[in-house]
Amino acid sequence: MTQRVTIIGAGLAGCEAAHRLARSGVGVDLWEMKPARRSPAHVLDGPCELVCSNSLRSDNPLNAVGLLHEELRRLDSLVLAAADETRVPAGDALAVDRERFSRRVAARLAERPEIRLHAAEVTALPEGPALALVATGPLTGDGLAAGLQALCGGRLFFYDAIAPIVSAESIDMTIAFARSRYDKGSGADYLNLPLDEAQYHAFVDALLAGEKVAPHQFEEPRYFDGCLPIEVMAERGREVLAHGPLKPVGLEDPRTGKRAHAVAQLRREDVAGTAWNLVGFQTRLTWPEQRRIFRTLPGLANAEFLRLGQVHRNTFVDAPRVLAPDLSVRARPHLFLAGQLTGVEGYVESAACGHLAARAILDRLAGRPFRPPPEATALGGLHRHLTGAAHPTGHEHQPSNVIFALFPPLPGWVRGGKEGRKMAHVARAREELGAWIS
Ligand SMILES: Cc1cc2nc3c(=O)[nH]c(=O)nc-3n(C[C@H](O)[C@H](O)[C@H](O)COP(=O)(O)OP(=O)(O)OC[C@H]3O[C@@H](n4cnc5c(N)ncnc54)[C@H](O)[C@@H]3O)c2cc1C
Repeated sequence: MTQRVTIIGAGLAGCEAAHRLARSGVGVDLWEMKPARRSPAHVLDGPCELVCSNSLRSDNPLNAVGLLHEELRRLDSLVLAAADETRVPAGDALAVDRERFSRRVAARLAERPEIRLHAAEVTALPEGPALALVATGPLTGDGLAAGLQALCGGRLFFYDAIAPIVSAESIDMTIAFARSRYDKGSGADYLNLPLDEAQYHAFVDALLAGEKVAPHQFEEPRYFDGCLPIEVMAERGREVLAHGPLKPVGLEDPRTGKRAHAVAQLRREDVAGTAWNLVGFQTRLTWPEQRRIFRTLPGLANAEFLRLGQVHRNTFVDAPRVLAPDLSVRARPHLFLAGQLTGVEGYVESAACGHLAARAILDRLAGRPFRPPPEATALGGLHRHLTGAAHPTGHEHQPSNVIFALFPPLPGWVRGGKEGRKMAHVARAREELGAWIS
């Protein structure tokens, strides 16, 4: 083990990258500021913390993120292996018990003699020439962020938000019913709260009138469309929620066979089902207002909130201009970035980005040119997002989940409509990834 790499941040990207490098015999100094210091969203002591939802989203390869799961499994990803081992029932989603997930990642890292864990905050960007990877996430602290800003001039802000968690015993099960949309998974992985039209409109009115937390002075209110606060969605139109997170389709009440006007869903937080997450209820409402307004939902009159919703800053660089294709900083080639800092969005995407950065570092250490993932794979789609190849000229770099729109277009017409196109994407991606791995 003659080569050592510094990684700052033992989150989704940093842990994945550390493990990938260690497996290739590269020594890793992994720096993590927890437990001495925490971001406003982190609460666990361990690494690889899922700060909001416990879901890594759909595990179905016909969804781009499900395809990304599959690709990461084929690449022996640490994060996907730990997720598979700590999975909890959640329809076709890959949801985990977050504490067991973090402990599993910690155990896998501890098995590697190549990895030295340092429990301390890093306050300045590492000087070269030794290679270093910064993976400090969307809530990167001021010290490092200032260093990055000086280096990149590309730090941007927008809002992200977390949803409340309710204890199981406080949910009125004479009103809530267990069912997954269209009976996916076990068919009963979610709890559902049916609202009639009057209840729905009263709820929308309450959201609109509720008191909100004012943004900090340094925060410019720019929301990511995939994670809008519930009251912002309500502001966009009275029926927007009924067509979004509260959509009732596929969720007829099995006791009556009837479809409600709207349905609020709760997703399991732990295997035992003691805690349930209000799906899509990320919010900027004040905490007293959240308690008051969410208790007006049918079945939640006596809700005990184990966690309330919050809004957070997100930090990311203008990757197509700041980063080279191998994810190193153009102005400081010894420094690589990974995870949400680059402008990928989501746990799985951040882990995938850590994996890509580790492979780029391995190429650099071996003195060979960077071998990017094949464009038509999910990994390739994310990489195209970061290089700008997936977007039209002049496109403003904004965080993105993995979506098929980031993939190169399919050649010619494809039989079978939307489903047929997805299947064609998946078939092409599987073939291309196989060639890359081998
Ligand atoms: C409030 C909020 C809610 C979110 N909800 C979701 C969601 O529901 N689903 C989803 O897919 N994504 C969600 N995200 C996005 C999520 O953060 C990312 O998807 C993912 O965690 C980012 O991975 P990362 O490795 O880049 O950063 P992180 O996982 O945040 O890891 C960064 C690590 O670096 C450490 N660190 C930071 N600074 C330093 C330093 N100076 N020195 C040493 N260590 C340091 C941190 O303690 C942390 O452990 C949310 C983000 C936020 C902020």
